[in-house]
Amino acid sequence: MDDLVDAIHVATATPEDIAGLAVPESYVGAVVLADEVGMFDGVPIADRDPRRSLHLREVATPQPGPGEALVAVMASSVNYNTVWSSIFAPLDTFGFLRRYAARGGTAARHDLPYHVLGSDLAGVVLRAGPGVGRWQPGDRVVAHCLSVELESPDGHSDTMLDPEQRIWGYETNFGGLAHLALVKSNQLMPKPAHLTWEEATASGLVNSTAYRQLVSRNGAQIKQGDNVLIWGAAGGLGSYAVQLTRNAGAIPICVVSSPRKAELVRAMGAELVIDRSAEGYAFWRGDTPDPKEWRRFGAHIRDLTGGEDPDVVLEHPGQETFGASVYVARRGGTVVTCASTTGYEHRYDNRYLWMHLKRIIGSHFANYREAWEANRLITKAMVHPTLSAVYPLGEVGTAVRAVHANRHTGKVGVLCLAPSEGLGVTDPALRARHEAAINRFRTAA
Ligand code: NAP
Repeated sequence: MDDLVDAIHVATATPEDIAGLAVPESYVGAVVLADEVGMFDGVPIADRDPRRSLHLREVATPQPGPGEALVAVMASSVNYNTVWSSIFAPLDTFGFLRRYAARGGTAARHDLPYHVLGSDLAGVVLRAGPGVGRWQPGDRVVAHCLSVELESPDGHSDTMLDPEQRIWGYETNFGGLAHLALVKSNQLMPKPAHLTWEEATASGLVNSTAYRQLVSRNGAQIKQGDNVLIWGAAGGLGSYAVQLTRNAGAIPICVVSSPRKAELVRAMGAELVIDRSAEGYAFWRGDTPDPKEWRRFGAHIRDLTGGEDPDVVLEHPGQETFGASVYVARRGGTVVTCASTTGYEHRYDNRYLWMHLKRIIGSHFANYREAWEANRLITKAMVHPTLSAVYPLGEVGTAVRAVHANRHTGKVGVLCLAPSEGLGVTDPALRARHEAAINRFRTAA
């Protein structure tokens, strides 16, 4: 692997040089193991420790099949789906791999006694499989995490509607938290040239998801002046939602849980901030939702906005907050949800939905077009990575635990083949122009 890393960092390396490098027969990846899926049985979700279930293993290198590419991964990032995989909740991910493999053909390779996790990468194409025209060895890339087959007509208006839609590195094997990764070539996008490897990998999954939720015609289509309530505004999704909202000329109303996180969203330009911990919001009394708390929360939002309600609510905490989200959305407003971190059996008062003509939109990742548009904003330095911490691959369990325990802000990066932080910038002039903003958004700063 050292030859590979050296060659990648030689500025004059040609595609032929990269194509001429030997691909190792095995590589190191962060895996969960099929024979450990019961290890947390009976353990509460909050106490399941990814440091126990995530292992570094040497695994066999898959050959790229038709339409696939093998990528040397310089850096990856932690997404919440890696938390779910590593705590085997709500399901272990081996069932996804078995179902995918049942398609036969090259999909059969994905059913293994280990699952290499990870749904983001920044790296260099090493090999392109048969039929790949757009990408070649040596290309510096990031990968989005949508894997589709597109054999059914259903996916052809919006690829997220493909019945064989999967999230790479969660519902497929050979993910990005590794030295090598196998992707479909239609997951690849150009690496933002002004960013380091670890900065370039931070945004993919969450930025694309927030883009579909807020900006795309498949989501809420925010516009100038909209009030956008953003739960977890200093987290992965939230820190990109704040930027997209501001770019649209809309007004973020940021919910966070500490003064440090409030400071972070203010540094990103948000003016309206609610510290939910300081306010002590408790939307449930035991097993029952507490509408008095919804009203108190709504009144707080009106205090901040001068009497207005949110046009759009970016939802993902789920059970804890969903009732409040439906309540506070304005008449005719939209709640757009992509997750249920605190529980997926939501309760809300439907009278506030139907009588006030509100809409709930279910949203999931993004199609290639949306992911490409979201990545374009990064490449043009119109949205910045919100990387707060970077761990070596050997400490991936600690990195995932930090996200699980909600101790992080923004995004947590992982160095894979990159020997240190700060490498991979190929457009220093663009970087110099945006250095101050990039540093401001590097949330540890
Ligand atoms: P993250 O970085 O951990 O951020 C989540 C934020 O949620 C935290 O910063 C936290 O902010 C807030 N939060 C946690 N518990 C809360 C509660 N009880 N009430 C209110 N806010 C709470 O995670 P993420 O990457 O943004 O992902 C968030 C969720 O979206 C996860 O469940 C993830 O799996 C899901 N997701 C889904 C998709 C998709 O395609 N469907 C894509 C990306 C993510 P404060 O503590 O500061 O309030």
